Amino acid sequence: MKQIVIVGGGAGGLQLATRLGHYFNRSLLPGRTRKNPAARVTLVDRNRTHIWKPLLHQVATGSIDTGLDALNYQVHARKNQFNFELGSLESVDRERKVITLSPVIDEDDHELVPARELEYDYLVLALGSQSNDFNTPGVREHCVFLDSSEQARRFHRLLLDRFLQLETRTTERLQIAIVGGGATGVELAAELVDAAEQMGRYGKIDSDALQITLIEAGDHLLPALPARLGNNAERELQRLGVRVITGCAVAEASADGLTTADGEKIPAAIRVWAAGVKAPDFLSRLDGLATNKLNQIEVSPELVSDTDPDIFAIGDCAGCLDARNFRVPPRAQSAQQMAGVAEHNLIARVEGKPLRAFRYNDRGSLVSLSKHTAVGNLMGALVKGSLTIEGRVAGLAYRSLYRMHLAAVHGWAKAMVIYLVGQANRFVKPRMKLH
Ligand SMILES: Cc1cc2nc3c(=O)[nH]c(=O)nc-3n(C[C@H](O)[C@H](O)[C@H](O)COP(=O)(O)OP(=O)(O)OC[C@H]3O[C@@H](n4cnc5c(N)ncnc54)[C@H](O)[C@@H]3O)c2cc1C
Repeated sequence: MKQIVIVGGGAGGLQLATRLGHYFNRSLLPGRTRKNPAARVTLVDRNRTHIWKPLLHQVATGSIDTGLDALNYQVHARKNQFNFELGSLESVDRERKVITLSPVIDEDDHELVPARELEYDYLVLALGSQSNDFNTPGVREHCVFLDSSEQARRFHRLLLDRFLQLETRTTERLQIAIVGGGATGVELAAELVDAAEQMGRYGKIDSDALQITLIEAGDHLLPALPARLGNNAERELQRLGVRVITGCAVAEASADGLTTADGEKIPAAIRVWAAGVKAPDFLSRLDGLATNKLNQIEVSPELVSDTDPDIFAIGDCAGCLDARNFRVPPRAQSAQQMAGVAEHNLIARVEGKPLRAFRYNDRGSLVSLSKHTAVGNLMGALVKGSLTIEGRVAGLAYRSLYRMHLAAVHGWAKAMVIYLVGQANRFVKPRMKLH
């Protein structure tokens, strides 16, 4: 029996493990699993639960409760016939075909589980990405990142503490500076305005007490989208009271604010860094696997490492030129589409069939401006080229992206139940998580 080990249960890896688990274990008899599957699938993640990364800015502002929206890997693995191992990838030994997971440590620094080795025949790296601080001084020490649900929850606690200071008049204003006017920065700025409104409703906060500054180095917000959409997002944010600065790089971060390359000092009690991503640094030292300058594993259009035919990489940690020589961008839709082709190619490897090349299909990008509105474009055969959408329709389309992820992981029926439970919760619970 072949061992397929997938490291990273995010947008790409979770879908891949779920589909392969079903494929290799499905039986012709309903409700039964195969006695001798051709492959055994193991998913490794450093967290016990999965939360879809594009929701992290909503976790940060409290408009999503991870306690309700998170998926437990162990339970999901049991239901979908794959194994789950909690642990963090530390190293790969390509000659022995084993990976090592670091020891599992508890909150008091006690070792719960020692370092372990897992054998593989085929290894898939789906570790995602982390913020790129471009070695800007002070950023690591003084800025908050939104790379994981733990960081997003930390931001949420920080925000509630600062709101408490506003409520008790310990401080008069809360200044938040966000570096990076891409989708994450724009969405976070809009969510924060909404969070302040919600706090005003439940507490005694004057929404004018919150001052948000969004700083983008490019000449318009949302540099990956046409300038018109970036300018519309800027207008909408300014209408909400956000100060937007474009064409300005941040040169340094400190405990009380940011300094721009022009020498302007922007005071900020909370500083968020959302200015681009790179794959985790340790990938560039992973037993000689070829990586690019963003630490991404260099893969062929079949998603196979350029260095090792038994190692695949998908999602943000893969440096991939697709079958049309197009550089695949680090997005949830890329990770999801790559998971589909990796599924086909891993089955093909196990069954001795030819591999398929990946072709990225840009379905457009949508950026939420909180509550009902969004901006973005839709692309593909259905809209014949590119269609710019804004407002409530775009807001609806944006929210459907998460439902599509849920459907890819749980199937449509369960995804619909999760959606209905979410709606019911929004009816009985406050719109913002206050603890
Ligand atoms: C706030 C925010 C908003 C976004 N909005 C959008 C959007 O609207 N549309 C869009 O297309 N994209 C969006 N993105 C980008 C999108 O989230 C990523 O492109 C996508 O999640 C990448 O999927 P992935 O499977 O490669 O990695 P991820 O989804 O990041 O998953 C990586 C997994 O690997 C695990 N992991 C990492 N290191 C280790 C290790 N050493 N050992 C074990 N496990 C490990 C992590 O715990 C995680 O579960 C957004 C990102 C952020 C942060």
